Amino acid sequence: MNDKILDGKKLADRLNTELKEKIRKAVKQTGIKPKLATILVGKDPASEVYVNIKNKTCEKVGIESIIVELEEDILKEKLLDEINRLNKDTTIHGILLQLPLPENLRDYTSEFLEKISPLKDADGLNPVNKGKLFDYNEELAPCTPKGIIALLEHYNIELKGKDAVIINRSNLVGKPLIFMFLKRNATPTVCHTSTRDIDRYIKNADVLIVAVRKPNFITKERIKEGVVIIDVGINRVEGKLCGDVDFDDVLYKCGAISPSPGGVGPLTVHFLLQNTFVAYKKQLNLTEI
Ligand code: NAP
Repeated sequence: MNDKILDGKKLADRLNTELKEKIRKAVKQTGIKPKLATILVGKDPASEVYVNIKNKTCEKVGIESIIVELEEDILKEKLLDEINRLNKDTTIHGILLQLPLPENLRDYTSEFLEKISPLKDADGLNPVNKGKLFDYNEELAPCTPKGIIALLEHYNIELKGKDAVIINRSNLVGKPLIFMFLKRNATPTVCHTSTRDIDRYIKNADVLIVAVRKPNFITKERIKEGVVIIDVGINRVEGKLCGDVDFDDVLYKCGAISPSPGGVGPLTVHFLLQNTFVAYKKQLNLTEI
């Protein structure tokens, strides 16, 4: 059964090692270390955990990482000023605004993302980079969808002509995946809470991407034999992390599955670092590495 598991952790470790070598060469050539600034507003415990993981992985590959911690009740204008300050700071190559923002600022999320310089947009959520994705340019595309595609491609999962069903329509996951699947000649279908008869779509999927924030949302009765499942969900149940798919239940019936944890999560972190390196190279006009 182990050959059915799409091991994102193992792939991310390998990609991080390759990235570390590229960064080493770039720093040798330029004398400048790539630097990522993460803006963390408030004290959301889950966000603090994610930021720490990203911070540690940055260190491992040779990216300098700073965390700009701001008070939960910071004024909108002050946060915009802070983003502007980081945009102007030439020692910073990537900027990440940790989401979700506290409730009082959440409605302005798009405005903040728009303010981040497209050249420093490590999360790929600025409208310029979203627009490039429309043209199949994935250079600075969002990290989780990049990780999903990297995992499928690494395990040689054919996408051409396949029905790819995405249960999620967020900016972070579902929407970017539409273009990534189209680029690879798959036929994407996006499902959400207003989808009628969602089981009809789930049952038809050759590739099924699930990111609904609901443990055990997908069970063997709902899937087609041989489907490739990517479980993006991260939930905490009785203190333990799990995804949105009942892993043990579907394992025999599916063709392959990426578990959660240990699937897309480590690849999301990798692509954040990779995007930071891409942004760094663009700003330093490095083309060779
Ligand atoms: P989100 O914005 O809350 O999106 C959830 C999506 O699921 C929405 O599109 C929602 O539909 C849909 N949905 C929820 N219940 C459904 C149901 N019963 N039937 C059909 N669709 C349903 O969340 P997100 O930020 O995209 O994240 C989704 C999950 O992925 C979370 O568990 C998050 O922790 C995880 N995640 C993991 C990584 C990683 O690196 N592994 C990265 C990002 C996110 P509506 O749009 O109609 O509400």
